[in-house]
Amino acid sequence: MKIAAALLLGLASLAVTLTAHAGPKLYVFDCGILYLDDITIFNLTETETQVRELFVPCYVVKHQGKFLLFDGGIPKRYADRSGLTDMAAGSAAYERWIVDQLEDINLSPADIDFAAYSHLHWDHAGSANYFIESTVLMQKTEWEQAFGAGAEFIDTSLFEKLKDAKLQMLDGDYDVFGDGAVRLIYTPGHTAGHQALYVNLENTGAVVLSGDLYHFRENRSLKRPPHFNLDAKQTLESMSKLEGFLTDTGATLWIEHDKALADTLRKAPYFYD
Ligand SMILES: [Zn+2]
Repeated sequence: MKIAAALLLGLASLAVTLTAHAGPKLYVFDCGILYLDDITIFNLTETETQVRELFVPCYVVKHQGKFLLFDGGIPKRYADRSGLTDMAAGSAAYERWIVDQLEDINLSPADIDFAAYSHLHWDHAGSANYFIESTVLMQKTEWEQAFGAGAEFIDTSLFEKLKDAKLQMLDGDYDVFGDGAVRLIYTPGHTAGHQALYVNLENTGAVVLSGDLYHFRENRSLKRPPHFNLDAKQTLESMSKLEGFLTDTGATLWIEHDKALADTLRKAPYFYD
């Protein structure tokens, strides 16, 4: 009887262990800091926010034994130099390149099954050329815009190698693993094919990674798209779509560039589940 009971207890704890890891895990990486001289391009006055630093994250989601990279940080050259590097209207710093940081969780780019970028601006797709073995989940409109008319903050040299990668062209929302737990939410306007990422974390609660739908909290509270957005009206429609989605799902919005939020988040190798 004792052996049978012990066996049952063992099976029960095994079942608990298995179900405890059924949902996705989310890793947050520091992929740079931007220091801004001028925030008025974000459609905010100098006094509407005191924030002058933008955090730049990269994320890895592990689910069903597979890995998704969401956003790739600022370019490697910033990490190659220590300290600050000048950029247009400010400066940037990048402590450790994302590929080096992935080693902390025993991953190399070849282990990343899927790569998705909220959009192709330089501070989100900076290392895209290094993830060409992944299946790239790309909105068709984003790709066509980048290699068509182009736009400010888009540098095609940072992701041109994706032409040789397995590109999966998307046309709107997309359920990455097919079980609803990790979903790209089509939110165009900042760029032609901008997308946010929903991750349903069992213990933390569901989160949505905003991409650049919002940069500052005030862009959200005041409903103000930055002046450099490709389409202001479309951005407002996307904001309204995402706010509805947050209400429906109860998910928490993580504004990617929100440094104050980022300071409260634990970075990899810690993960949220
Ligand atoms: Zn950005």
